[in-house]
Amino acid sequence: MGCGCRGVSEEDLVKARVEEQQSRADKETVDMRRTVCRGCEHSEKRKRSDGTLGLTTFSKCDVCGCPIAGKTAGAAEVCPEGRW
Ligand code: SF4
Repeated sequence: MGCGCRGVSEEDLVKARVEEQQSRADKETVDMRRTVCRGCEHSEKRKRSDGTLGLTTFSKCDVCGCPIAGKTAGAAEVCPEGRW
């Protein structure tokens, strides 16, 4: 079972990439949001590769249940607690 990319035209791939870029928040915004989430009591702290606890790719917000990495990167996303 493949990922489905083989049957997609190059034009559709470019269009999807452009849409993805347009729906992403800028780096400054993402960094600010992740800083807020890092200090929030509702963010799931997980064990990182260096043994410390903190945000990882798999950490979720326990208010909305969303993965924080993806949530903080979406231009239209909002914090359910109104913190960003
Ligand atoms: S999205 Fe909001 S409530 Fe959830 S972890 Fe981040 S700052 Fe906290």
